[in-house]
Amino acid sequence: MPELPEVEDAARRLRAAIIGRTFVTARALHPSTGRTLTDVACQRLIGQRVISVDRRAKLQVVRFADDRVLEVHLRMTGDWDIGRHDDPAPLYERARFTCDDGTRISFVDSRAFGVLTVHDPGAFKLPLYGPEPLDADFTAAVLLKALKARRGPIKPVLLDQRVIAGLGNIYAAEALWESRIRPDTPANRIALVRVTRLRDAIRLVLSEAPSARYYEREERVEESWRVYDREGKPCLRCVAPIVRIVQAGRSTFYCRRCQR
Ligand SMILES: [Zn+2]
Repeated sequence: MPELPEVEDAARRLRAAIIGRTFVTARALHPSTGRTLTDVACQRLIGQRVISVDRRAKLQVVRFADDRVLEVHLRMTGDWDIGRHDDPAPLYERARFTCDDGTRISFVDSRAFGVLTVHDPGAFKLPLYGPEPLDADFTAAVLLKALKARRGPIKPVLLDQRVIAGLGNIYAAEALWESRIRPDTPANRIALVRVTRLRDAIRLVLSEAPSARYYEREERVEESWRVYDREGKPCLRCVAPIVRIVQAGRSTFYCRRCQR
């Protein structure tokens, strides 16, 4: 699943390709994608010039000159495939936009869970998000304050987008392993020293060659996780077997010995 660094990378590639360009065609190519990206919505994008491409949490926001917005969620397997309009169609192409310079923007998505939505001018509202974990204003003090207000176990709290924007299930598990914190520790009981370690771990796991992890073949990706999806395998720090628990419907992996 694309996590924050992959979404950032996708937004960067999209931005480089379409800023200042005008859409000359827009079309959904799969029934699931067409549920939100309707023919009517596509028509509204044609002839529109792209002003900006932003990422907030795992959301990509494309703004057009008339203040219309294309909101994009990659979900499980979505990504951009960018090329020329006369290239052969990429695999799993679910939507296609072409620009006035011949650039082809394909939304590729093997499982077709991605969501593309067109908002009329002024209608788009960004959800309430917490700080971006890779921004300078994501300090230990900011994280401590957010955690003090939550009594629930830390792992689901880390997935709450109002606490941290864009941290997903895999990186939350990885960050807790890095900072040696048990995923069921009540969030408001973690002291500043450990919160500082957690904040540093979140930034570390998000910045460690993330795109390489995602684009490598699947088995290579799995090998690169320190704790995620390693149930029964030895902890890379203390060799105790990694255990799996389910919290708020999501799998969590951790080491019973060295995460306290
Ligand atoms: Zn361990």
